[in-house]
Amino acid sequence: MTPATVITGASAGIGAELARVFAGHGHALVMVARREQRLAALAAEIAAAGKPAPLVLPVDLAQPDAAARLGEVLAARELAPQYIVNNAGFGLVGRAADLDVAEQLAMIDLNVRALTDLSLAFVDSLARQSGGLLNVASVAGFFPGPGAAVYYAGKAYVLSLTEALHAELAPLGIRVTCLCPGPVATEFQARAGVGNAPEWPLAVSAERVAAEAYRGLMSGKRIVLPGWPNRLVASLVPRFVPRPILLAMLGRRQRRRRA
Ligand code: NAP
Repeated sequence: MTPATVITGASAGIGAELARVFAGHGHALVMVARREQRLAALAAEIAAAGKPAPLVLPVDLAQPDAAARLGEVLAARELAPQYIVNNAGFGLVGRAADLDVAEQLAMIDLNVRALTDLSLAFVDSLARQSGGLLNVASVAGFFPGPGAAVYYAGKAYVLSLTEALHAELAPLGIRVTCLCPGPVATEFQARAGVGNAPEWPLAVSAERVAAEAYRGLMSGKRIVLPGWPNRLVASLVPRFVPRPILLAMLGRRQRRRRA
C-alpha cells in the first residue's frame, strides 16, 4: 500500500494552496472536489514541478455515500490514507429564516456530515501510517454568528469535534489539527453571497494559511489560527465581550457584508 494525503476542496482557494504545500513536501496527493478540470489543471502543475502526480477524484462530498466511495477507490488503487485534509466547505450569509432551507441543510451535509465521516473513516490507516487529520473550521467557530447562523454553528461543531479528536487519537500517534482561518480572499465570498473583499486587518492570504496549517499539523498543534489579529479576536472576544453586544456586533457586520 502507498501512503496518500487526501485533500478535499482542492479545486480552489485554501484547498488548492494546501495541495501545493503538501505536494511541495513530497506527499502523494488524492485531490477531491466536483470540478474535475480544475483538479486536473492543478495536478498537471504539481507533476510539472517534479512532484508525485496527484490522483484526481471528482466527487460531490455532499452525497451521503461519498466517504464510502472514496474509500473504495483508494483501496482499489492500493492507496493507504496517511493524512486526511477536510477543507471542502462553503458559507451562506443572510438571516437563516430568509435563506433557502435546503441549501443550508446541504451546507451541513458538506461542512459537518462529510467532514465527520472522513474524519472517522480512515483512523486505522492514519494510525498505521503515523499520519494525521487536518480539519478546516474558521474563526467563526468561536462564537455564534447572526447573519450566517448555520455556517457559524457548523464551524463551532468542527472546532469542538476536532479538539476532542486531537485528544482521543493522540494515543494512536495520529496528529489532529483544527485550522481556523479568519477572512481569506477566495471563491468563498461569492458563494456566500457577499461581494466585498475580506476586511483588513483580519485578512490573510490562502498561501499563508496553507503554509501555517502544514507547519501546525506536522508539529502536533491542536489549533492553527493564522494571523495575530485573528488570534486576538478568537481568544479575547468570546471571553470579554458580553454575549448581547457580541451578537449585535456580528449581526451588523453580516448586514454590512450583504449590502
Ligand atoms: P472556495 O475557494 O470556495 O473553495 C471551496 C472548495 O470546496 C472548492 O474546492 C470546492 O470545489 C469545494 N467544494 C464545495 N462544495 C463541494 C462538494 N459538494 N463536494 C466536494 N467539494 C466541494 O473556499 P475556501 O475559502 O478555499 O474555503 C475552504 C474552507 O475554508 C471551507 O471549509 C471554508 O468554510 C473555510 N474558511 C474559509 C474562509 C474564507 O474567508 N475564505 C474563512 C474561514 C474558513 P468544487 O466547487 O469544485 O466542488
